[in-house]
Amino acid sequence: MVDERAKLLAKFIEPLRVGPGATVKLAKDFDPGYTASFLKKKDAAAILQAGVAVMAEYQARLAAQDTWGVLVCLQAMDAGGKDGTIRHVMSGVNPQGVHVSGFKVPSAEELDHDYLWRYACRLPGRGEIGIFNRSHYEEVLVVRVHPELLDRQQLPPAAKGKGVWGRRYREINSWEHFLTDNGFRVVKLFLNLSKEEQRIRFLKRVDLPEKNWKFSAADARERKYWDDYQAAFSDMLTHTSTEWAPWYVIPADHKWFARICVSAVLAHTLMEIGPRYPEVDAAKREDLGETKALLEAEAPKGAAPDPFQAELETEAAKEEAGRETKQARKQRERMARVRAKVAKAEGVKA
Ligand code: AMP
Ligand code: MG
Repeated sequence: MVDERAKLLAKFIEPLRVGPGATVKLAKDFDPGYTASFLKKKDAAAILQAGVAVMAEYQARLAAQDTWGVLVCLQAMDAGGKDGTIRHVMSGVNPQGVHVSGFKVPSAEELDHDYLWRYACRLPGRGEIGIFNRSHYEEVLVVRVHPELLDRQQLPPAAKGKGVWGRRYREINSWEHFLTDNGFRVVKLFLNLSKEEQRIRFLKRVDLPEKNWKFSAADARERKYWDDYQAAFSDMLTHTSTEWAPWYVIPADHKWFARICVSAVLAHTLMEIGPRYPEVDAAKREDLGETKALLEAEAPKGAAPDPFQAELETEAAKEEAGRETKQARKQRERMARVRAKVAKAEGVKA
């Protein structure tokens, strides 16, 4: 059953994955308005709910096993839907196991370190899911589109000269390889928004008073760099989609579809990791048996020694009864078939 689910998910997300080594040209290769023809918006809530349930189940096991961690990197143009995606996709997951870190313009302290430092400080621990709302990829996106930001990074001349982006791609790839080798899966999601949908979402922020706080005139001014960002994203996808940490390009013009895609990629990653609840050894089982006997001996007069066990047994009995009915039904059906045959044979005789 789980294998079937995993196979279906793998098939669904395959077209979103950037093949390692592929040269990407966003405008040509990925349509921000795409939705799968077999999915309808009216079913979106139910599908997302199913994804959320899978995430909750696997996150609990991930935490219990305490061996693997997951880092989710979310990148998008402004109004791409990062915040809403996190809110919806992670809605059913135990908040203790998930940390969200947002990255804004770096502080003076952050600029005083290497460019990966502030991201390394926020990595998830084993058993945790860490979400980067913007990530180390800003270092090859906004910093590339605005070269003055690179100047502010106080780099020695050789570290900001020619070939700086190629070098950063290599450094990022090996950092992610190192994390993967050490038990941390890196999942990279680019919410791919169209320029027209961004315009509409900005207007919504202007027109709706409860969204005014989210609007920034600077974000709207940044639209004049749209083509530079598209080029930077294309180059980033081309050079940093690796076997160990591939990029997924999520069509983001339809929020309902984007959320289903993100949920599918995350569920698939967790299933691939396949975390399990740790099994206890014989000594621990013996311990549990002794504790049980002690607790049962403490039952007050008239109380069941172990009310929970009684509950389990009732549940099991109900299930057993259900099975008997199924058996009985099969028997009935068999008898009906026999009777029909007999009736037919007698009809022929008559
Ligand atoms: P927001 O996510 O809308 O709150 O905006 C955060 C802002 O911080 C965006 O305009 C980003 O481009 C900017 N930002 C994030 N990381 C960096 C960075 N490494 N260098 C410069 N600006 C950044
Ligand atoms: Mg913003």
